[in-house]
Amino acid sequence: MTESTKYLLPEDRIPKRWYNIQADLPKPLPAVLHPGTLQPVGPDDLAPLFPMELIMQEVSTEREVEIPEPVREVYRLWRPAPLFRAHRLEKALGTPAKIFYKYEGVSPAGSHKPNTAVAQAFYNKAAGVKRLSTETGAGQWGSSLAFAGNLFGLEVQVFQVRVSYDQKPYRRALMETYGARCLPSPSTETAYGRSVLERAPNHPGSLGIAISEAVEVAVQREDTKYALGSVLNHVLLHQTIIGLESMEQMEMAGAWPDVVVGCTGGGSNFAGIAFPFIGDALRGGRRARIVAVEPAACPSLTRGKYAYDFGDTAHMTPLTKMHTLGSTFTPPGFHAGGLRYHGMAPLVSHLKELGLIEATAYHQTECFAAGVTFARAEGIVPAPEANHAVKGAIEEALRCKREGRSETILFNLCGHGHFDMQAYIDYAAGKLTDQQYDPKELAMALSGLPSVPA
Ligand SMILES: *Cc1c(COP(=O)(O)O)cnc(C)c1O
Repeated sequence: MTESTKYLLPEDRIPKRWYNIQADLPKPLPAVLHPGTLQPVGPDDLAPLFPMELIMQEVSTEREVEIPEPVREVYRLWRPAPLFRAHRLEKALGTPAKIFYKYEGVSPAGSHKPNTAVAQAFYNKAAGVKRLSTETGAGQWGSSLAFAGNLFGLEVQVFQVRVSYDQKPYRRALMETYGARCLPSPSTETAYGRSVLERAPNHPGSLGIAISEAVEVAVQREDTKYALGSVLNHVLLHQTIIGLESMEQMEMAGAWPDVVVGCTGGGSNFAGIAFPFIGDALRGGRRARIVAVEPAACPSLTRGKYAYDFGDTAHMTPLTKMHTLGSTFTPPGFHAGGLRYHGMAPLVSHLKELGLIEATAYHQTECFAAGVTFARAEGIVPAPEANHAVKGAIEEALRCKREGRSETILFNLCGHGHFDMQAYIDYAAGKLTDQQYDPKELAMALSGLPSVPA
């Protein structure tokens, strides 16, 4: 008799509350600052962008936040998400470690992002908002918000980074299928987009530029708010449903992780799986090692500076303290589009400073190799972003093999790669290279950080 492979929770075990790690922090998060006055921003400063419920969640220190019933209703379409024991991967690696993974690719958009998209659409609708504007890089966030906005009767306008708009027509088609309007960024729709195009008519776009455009649209129209798919506290809060379910499933499996691994772009899927475990340890529970894995070509946690910076390129957002490569830093092109962001979530950055999490960085070809090993053993083809978590988990399993330790490893398989098969084609053809970021560009971007007195 082999042990079980799949751990499923019944529908009525979908958590009723998200977990807010701000309640358990040994030191509070540094304040968010107004870029003009350098004074802490208040809820009213953020009101043009977000509905008040989400702003209150942003600053809340309550340990638990109730999940509205209409949100749980939508979650039922795919949640609780399955947790798997990767027996075949363990065997392929010859490791004594036990490897578990939580699979978020079962959502309609194929990643963890609908966990927050549905919540954000709900709170905006409840506040009387008619339209949401947002940005998307690879298209995962845009399709998640398009799906969620449609369910709650909201118009969704997505600024998609020009290169991926041109290179990934299937993601765009998915957004349009859900009823969203998708524009290539930089666009002629905003003053900022027009100013970029004037200087560089063929600009490939960047996440920072697309954020600036989406924010501009939201600030100008009374009926429109902005939605962000990562980085912010309320986004990370909504994603904790991943870790909360995983805790119950690990108990079902009669196991508990010694190591928890997630990939980090803006930090939301990593926070989602890790924060409930970190919180449990902070309140006296068992302590696991928590490992964030990022791309070596955009290494905000391992190479960035912990400093106040803007979230966007046009400098329209407030200043947050985070690990940053500088808001003008443009990472080299690589296939995990969801990980190409200059900053890291303030909460994840803060935990790194407190020594509560570790971070490592890997190059894309070694991550694709890990993803192919995983696909051949377990059947699921991971998203290029998720390959970083797979790589991190495999490295931990191989360390266990060397050290003869039977540790338990849990990682977040945050999405499938069905829309990213071109990347796998390029990898198989030997066309993927490991791009290095330009150290001179990084130094320049960092020298441009806003100066904030300590
Ligand atoms: C967006 C995305 C990421 C990166 O965002 P995080 O906020 O760091 O989670 C990672 N993986 C997938 C599949 C994504 O869609």
